[in-house]
Amino acid sequence: MIPSVLPTYSRAPLSFVKGEGSWLVEADGRRFLDMGSGIAVNVLGHAHPDLVNALSEQAQKLWHVSNLYTIPEQQKLADKLVAATFADTVFFTNSGTETCELAVKMARKHFYDAGQPERVEIIAFEGSFHGRSSAGIAAAGSEKMTKGFGPVLGGFRHLKWFDLDEVREAVNDKTAAILVEPVQGEGGIRPLPDAALKGLREICDETGTLLILDEVQCGMGRTGRLFAHEWAGITPDIMMVAKGIGGGFPLGAVLATEKAADGMTAGTHGSTYGGNPLGCAVGAAVMDHVADAGFLAEVQRKAGLLRQKLEGLVAGHPQVFESVRGQGLMLGLKCRATNLDLVKAGYANEVITVPAGDNVVRLLPPLTITDDEIAEAVTRLDAAATELEKSAA
Ligand SMILES: *Cc1c(COP(=O)(O)O)cnc(C)c1O
Repeated sequence: MIPSVLPTYSRAPLSFVKGEGSWLVEADGRRFLDMGSGIAVNVLGHAHPDLVNALSEQAQKLWHVSNLYTIPEQQKLADKLVAATFADTVFFTNSGTETCELAVKMARKHFYDAGQPERVEIIAFEGSFHGRSSAGIAAAGSEKMTKGFGPVLGGFRHLKWFDLDEVREAVNDKTAAILVEPVQGEGGIRPLPDAALKGLREICDETGTLLILDEVQCGMGRTGRLFAHEWAGITPDIMMVAKGIGGGFPLGAVLATEKAADGMTAGTHGSTYGGNPLGCAVGAAVMDHVADAGFLAEVQRKAGLLRQKLEGLVAGHPQVFESVRGQGLMLGLKCRATNLDLVKAGYANEVITVPAGDNVVRLLPPLTITDDEIAEAVTRLDAAATELEKSAA
């Protein structure tokens, strides 16, 4: 008999009833150190007082109004995002995958309105993840994402990750946009080198192609800059943001330049919930922390500390680990053992990690994690790795 919750996830036998900062409390009372943050969502940890206040204050006033009206909280968050980034304009969604839908629509509409309706093709990359809606799975393009769900939305072309010359050759007079994650998340914490991002920007500038960056996972302070592309000194034309922006409230955003967004006039797109007062009140409180230079400097410092300790962990367990990779507090342990076994051994040692592609275990702690918690997490991972070695012997 099918469970009452549609069984599309194979779930761990853990159910958390409370969160405090970097900690999750299981129903049985055990306290787990959360190095997953609900997959890069809880950037300020669990139950941060400023977010609790922002949500409960707004909840007393007004939860929802339609986008048929001006929403002051939405206006305020959009202004903050525009002030802090390359963007001139913002559309709010409830999730990451909806940002993919709009990014694709926006790119195609831009060229349609410019009298180049043949420019519809989006170039995307192997190992990428852009969400589970029709455009998202088509953009990822893998059999794992699309098999059985045909007909798959057309107009996507997939290139291997990553060869700039191949990209240059692939762009033609049908290309609307290049869509890429600056750091692949689900694909196994694979950062694109700065030179590659710069190269993509150059190709786009030379050919009038739009650059769409998916910063749903790597954005919102995760890499130690507000957005990961800042490290490369380039800007996109369109950017997808979600996960961390709501700190746990379902919220996403498409950021764009005025030029890229020029086709999106009244009536061309919409969302019932997207940008509602509750979500935007929380998002504004998240931005007040994460967009702060001092906060980001701390993320960078703590990232250095975690990385250094993880290098030691890898060196101490050569049968279990191969290497550390990633950027900022978006780190991956490339495993020799099976990544899922390490995640499970982590559960037994009360530390939460997240598996990713390419046999990687992801570490995406709250950006507010303390130095002591970093040390404790690595101690627990060390115990987990030792258990794996023993069970293999
Ligand atoms: C999680 C993710 C998405 C999809 O976000 P949802 O909120 O799950 O729809 C898209 N792109 C990237 C890079 C992601 O990590």
